Amino acid sequence: MQMIDNYSFAGKKAIIRVDFNVPLGAQYEVSDDTRIRGALPTIKKVLADGGSAILMSHLGRPKSGPEEKFSLKHVIPVLAAHLGVEIQFANDCMGAQAVEKSTALKPGEVLLLENLRFYTAENKVKTDEEKAATSVFAEKLSTYADVYVNDAFGTAHRAHASTTVIADCFAEDSKMFGFLINKEIKAMDKVLHQSDKPMTAIMGGAKVSDKIQVIENLLDKVDNLIIGGGMTYTFIKARGGEIGNSLCEEDKLDVAADLVKKAEDKGVNLILPVDQVLADKFDNEATTELAGIDQGREGYMGLDIGAKSVEALSEVIMNSKTILWNGPMGVFEMPSFQKGTVSIAKAIAESTAKGCFSLVGGGDSVAAVNKFGLADKVSYVSTGGGAMLEYIEGKVLPGIKAIRG
Ligand code: AMP
Repeated sequence: MQMIDNYSFAGKKAIIRVDFNVPLGAQYEVSDDTRIRGALPTIKKVLADGGSAILMSHLGRPKSGPEEKFSLKHVIPVLAAHLGVEIQFANDCMGAQAVEKSTALKPGEVLLLENLRFYTAENKVKTDEEKAATSVFAEKLSTYADVYVNDAFGTAHRAHASTTVIADCFAEDSKMFGFLINKEIKAMDKVLHQSDKPMTAIMGGAKVSDKIQVIENLLDKVDNLIIGGGMTYTFIKARGGEIGNSLCEEDKLDVAADLVKKAEDKGVNLILPVDQVLADKFDNEATTELAGIDQGREGYMGLDIGAKSVEALSEVIMNSKTILWNGPMGVFEMPSFQKGTVSIAKAIAESTAKGCFSLVGGGDSVAAVNKFGLADKVSYVSTGGGAMLEYIEGKVLPGIKAIRG
């Protein structure tokens, strides 16, 4: 497999799949440029080598055709400021401008293509007809460049034109991952295959159903599995606890019981919270009270873990050498119910300072570490929620397979 580190882009045009799917504010200004910053090392390497960069991405979920609010031109000012070069723009990734500007592109220059998803051929790949259209679309994109680089980890779990199909248009030595994907894979492989023990996975968030496969796969790897957040209550009900109006997936009670049994069989320490913050409504201003985790009651829902849980979980976290965290411990978006998530994030940061390797991934836990200013105090923050979960489930991601084989 071609590695970017020992490849020279001198005199080459590189088409780079980046993840510029950034949030935009009311005036279409970029409100969080994390993803743009993530792509910079790869783009800079291409330019520094004496190559030119053609950048392609999706932004949002356009329904059919171009829409102003999904135009990638909105990222130009931020990208230009970071790179210190002028950004050329092709207003249609399949149009005459894209062909002409990519043909005329000189070493050191950057061309950004308009949103790939303005064409359904980018990401609609169900029927044979759609697949054929996707191949034609990918082939055309490939004609713009000499070499293909995929650096969009966030979409690596999708078999789309720009993430997967296009790779077939390039020879083995002319396609590679960018620095960002390499870093993501390294961090996940460290946790999955070369972890120092004890290893602890912390799974939170709303639903068990989203994370069953991840939890099952982790049971073969971890020493401790902490369950928190809304998914706790399916486990509590399954063991006969009272949950009142807390979130619960009734159809997943046996799945939860089965996971507890499997953990036991495999010698994994499955840890549930011992107490909770009950609220009389799903509202920051709700009346709250502390209760044991099995002591929910009618008219109340558990929206955060309690102080005793924080203490017990923090101890496990402080004694861990590897940590994987996905999903908040409570409704952290509301200040009244953020304490559990903040405390766990802080414990992870402290354990990291003591030498533990910590990987945080999944939209909401990343939002939490960012919100609490702890992103640079953990070892690695993944840029891909869905992609990371699928990798941890043990699935082969199409975008990774397309290059790795
Ligand atoms: P997920 O996308 O599955 O990781 O879930 C994240 C969401 O779960 C966040 O928006 C949280 O507010 C929510 N959440 C966490 N704990 C609870 C809880 N105890 N009850 C209801 N929602 C929760």
